[in-house]
Amino acid sequence: MEYRKDDIITLRIDDMGTDGEGIGKAGGFTFFVKDAVIGDTVEAKVMKVKKGYAYARLVRIVEPSPNRTEPRCPYHRQCGGCQIQALDYAAQLAFKEHKVRNNLNRIGGFSMELLDRVMEPIVGMKEPFYYRNKAQFPVGADKNGEPVTGFYAGRTHAIIPNTDCALGVKENKMILEILLGYMKKYKVAPYDEETGEGLIRHILIRKGFTSGEIMVCIILNGEKLPQEERLVEQLRSVKGMTSISISINRDNTNVIMGKECRTIWGRDTISDVIHVRSIGDINAGRDIVSGSSDDEGISFAISPMSFYQVNPVQTEKLYSIALDYAELTGTETVWDLYCGIGTISLFMAKRAKQVYGVEVVGQAVADARKNAARNNIENARFYVGKAEEVLPVLYEEEGIYADVICVDPPRKGCDAACLETIVKMAPRRIVYVSCDSATLARDLKYLCANGYELRRCRAADLFSQTVHVEMVVLLTYTVHQ
Ligand code: SAH
Repeated sequence: MEYRKDDIITLRIDDMGTDGEGIGKAGGFTFFVKDAVIGDTVEAKVMKVKKGYAYARLVRIVEPSPNRTEPRCPYHRQCGGCQIQALDYAAQLAFKEHKVRNNLNRIGGFSMELLDRVMEPIVGMKEPFYYRNKAQFPVGADKNGEPVTGFYAGRTHAIIPNTDCALGVKENKMILEILLGYMKKYKVAPYDEETGEGLIRHILIRKGFTSGEIMVCIILNGEKLPQEERLVEQLRSVKGMTSISISINRDNTNVIMGKECRTIWGRDTISDVIHVRSIGDINAGRDIVSGSSDDEGISFAISPMSFYQVNPVQTEKLYSIALDYAELTGTETVWDLYCGIGTISLFMAKRAKQVYGVEVVGQAVADARKNAARNNIENARFYVGKAEEVLPVLYEEEGIYADVICVDPPRKGCDAACLETIVKMAPRRIVYVSCDSATLARDLKYLCANGYELRRCRAADLFSQTVHVEMVVLLTYTVHQ
C-alpha cells in the first residue's frame, strides 16, 4: 500500500523504539509514532515517508494502552527529558529490559537462550520521581524579553519555562526563582545563542542526598555577575546552601560548563556519602540512602565540573552489583577505567590489594585523590588521561597487570585501543558498567571473540521516566576456569 504525507492512519502500537517512540505496522509499513506507547491504538498523521517505514504524529488515542498512566509533568510531551512518562513504571522497566536484551542479541550476537540464563532481573526504583541530585537549567528570554529558565524542547534549543521538574529536588524551584527575580530586578540579560550576547547561560544545581548540602554554579558569558552580593545573599538563605560558584564560558558551543570554576561563596565542593550493600538487600528492594547500612560508607567531595552519578539511591545498588560481580577477596590488583572521582575505585580498594584508576578529566582525578585521602584509603592510585592512551603505554612500558578490570565508559563505549590492551592484560574478570547498551553490546562482542565469556548481567534503572538504562556485566576469561 502507498502512503503519502498527511494521510491519517489507525494503528495498533505493538513495540517501542530505543528512543521511546511507539512502533506499529500497517499495510506492510512500519510507523514510528512519538508519544504513542505500547498497547495503544492510535490515529496518526503521516509526516515523512521513507522506504518501508514512515514517521507519523499522534493525532488521537483511539484506545489507550492498559499501561498508560497520567503523567506528572504537564510538559512531558514538549520537553526532551522524560520520553516515557506516560508509561506506568512496571512497563517502563519491561521496556528497558527488552531494549537491553535486543541490543545484546542483535548487536552483540548473544543468543536469547544465553541471555535467559545470564540476565538477572532489572533493579527498579521505589519512588521513580524526584530522584536526580543534579540539574542544569538553560537560561534564556521569552517573547517579551523576560528571563526564563526550564528545559529545551525535544531536539531544539527553545526553552520551555518550567522551574518545577518532576525528576529534580524541591530546592531547584526556589533557587531558580531567586535567580530569575535577581535577573529582573538588576536587569541582568540572559545569554542569546543567536547573537552571542547576554550574560547568564545556565545554572547548575547539585544536592548531596545524605549531607543535604547544596551547590549552585552559574555559567556566564562574561567575567562577573553585576551586584553579585545581592544574588549570593538570597541564595545562601536556601537551607543547605554550601557552595556558590561561577563558571566562565564565552564560546558559542553546546558545551555547558566553562573550563574553570570560581567559588564566590562557601566551599568549593559539597559532600555526599555512598553505601553499598549485599545483593540480598538489593534483591529485597531495600534502599540505602534513606535507611541505615552496615557498611560505613565512603564520603565524596564533589566539585561542579566532576562527573557524579545523578541518581544516588540507584547508584548504591549499581555499585553493589558491580562489587558483587568483581568477587574481590583482598588479594587482587584492580584497574578501574573511566573512574570519574574514584567512586567505584574506592569501594573496590576496600576489598582488594591495590586499585588503579584512569580518568580523562584532571579535576575529577584531583577529587579522586582527595576522596581517597578523606577516607584513609591508601591502596588507590589515579592516572589522568584517556584510557585508550594511558593503558597501552603503561602495559608496553611497565607491563602492568590486573586480576580484575572494571570499565564504566561514557555513551560511546570503550575505544578499540583500550579493549585491545584489556585483552592483552587478560584479567580473570571484567566488570563492564554501561549507560548505553548498544555500545556495550558492540564491546562485549569484541571481548567475547577474544577469550571472554558473558557470565552475568543486570540492568538497573537510574533514569526513571526516560529511555536510558544502566547495565552491569561480568565477563570471565575462559582459560582461567
Ligand atoms: N565510574 C565513575 C564515572 C563514570 S562516567 C562513576 O561511577 O562515577 C564516565 C567517566 O569517563 C567520566 O568521568 C568521563 O570524564 C570519563 N571519560 C570519558 N572519556 C574517557 C576516556 N577516553 N578515558 C578515560 N576517561 C574518560
